[in-house]
Amino acid sequence: MVLLSTLGNVFAQRSKIIIPDIAGYQTLKGDFHMHTVFSDGHVWPTFRVNEALRDGMDVIAITEHMDYEGFPEEIERDYNKSYEIAAEAAKDKGLMVIKGVEISPRVPPYHHNAIFLEDANSLPMEYMKNTHKKFIMKDSITREQLMEPFLEAQRQGAFVSYNHPSYNWWDKKDTVLFTDFHQELLDKGILGGVEVVNSGRYNIIAHRMAMKYNLTMLCNTDEHYDMYPRYVDTHRPMTLVFVEEKTPEGVEEAMRAKRTALYFGDYVVARQPEAEALFKAAVGVDAEKKDRKGEPIIVVTLKNTSDIPFHLQLKSRYNIELLPLGQLILGAQEEKEVVLKEVWDTPDETKLEVKVENILVTPDEAMLTQFTFSDFE
Ligand SMILES: [Zn+2]
Ligand SMILES: [Zn+2]
Repeated sequence: MVLLSTLGNVFAQRSKIIIPDIAGYQTLKGDFHMHTVFSDGHVWPTFRVNEALRDGMDVIAITEHMDYEGFPEEIERDYNKSYEIAAEAAKDKGLMVIKGVEISPRVPPYHHNAIFLEDANSLPMEYMKNTHKKFIMKDSITREQLMEPFLEAQRQGAFVSYNHPSYNWWDKKDTVLFTDFHQELLDKGILGGVEVVNSGRYNIIAHRMAMKYNLTMLCNTDEHYDMYPRYVDTHRPMTLVFVEEKTPEGVEEAMRAKRTALYFGDYVVARQPEAEALFKAAVGVDAEKKDRKGEPIIVVTLKNTSDIPFHLQLKSRYNIELLPLGQLILGAQEEKEVVLKEVWDTPDETKLEVKVENILVTPDEAMLTQFTFSDFE
């Protein structure tokens, strides 16, 4: 499956991406992992807000490393501060800012985000020896010390997700990335999500983890700099969250209910219900019986009203004209006609089976759906 990343794409930096609401839910564009100068990022929190407004985001979380300070001489350690500055800048602009923190030991369980926190400063970090410009952990760390910040996050009602599994300092002696520490977090009801896409990169291990342990899937930028140059040829990667209401509570409810879809490059990763709802909301279909000089045909019009391009493989009981293997690329905001021919017997109802090659519902399967035409106009 080779996809051209530029095909039919609308870049976030040039215009805001259009993605429809789905049946019963509003679709929000989110990014739940990013840094500022209050940990090891290189921008001021208001920059993250301006960037998000430019890209048409609905919700962002600022998640500083609670155990690392890049600029201790200039910035006093306060992990609520970047949230407060960003929230103030975002006020009345339609952008929600969520308070979060990144718990970042370099031993299992590795990095996790805790978002929807009350107080980011009260998470214990007894496993650290030095946090000033250097990340140095104590020589002997207990499992209890590593567990403490998670227990505090749980006390605060936070949503915890596993960030970028298999990052380069992963201790390969573990062999498994989902360690017994993660199992304990899961058993305690602390672990809720996993970052399947980090800074635009798809992580198949994280995707398998999401399936196996029934975790919410996330797609975050984890940006430390200005993200514009990184995504200049594509759009900003995002987690689509399907909410009942556009409030922080609504986002949290949707996240706990696992109603997300990940949009990065030309790909969407989602579970079947969200994937199918999103595709059906984006692509409208209309079928008409016609007589082409005595030859009965069905003309199917597919109309994509979203900015997500879809790579389709169509199947019908009739022959599909002109499209080898029924392959069709339906670009952003594009309308295309498909002719079904040799329509000699005409049942009341006919089906068009659709495989959407760029929507993954599992690490191994593209999404399948179908359109049924019954009342031909
Ligand atoms: Zn990290
Ligand atoms: Zn990070």
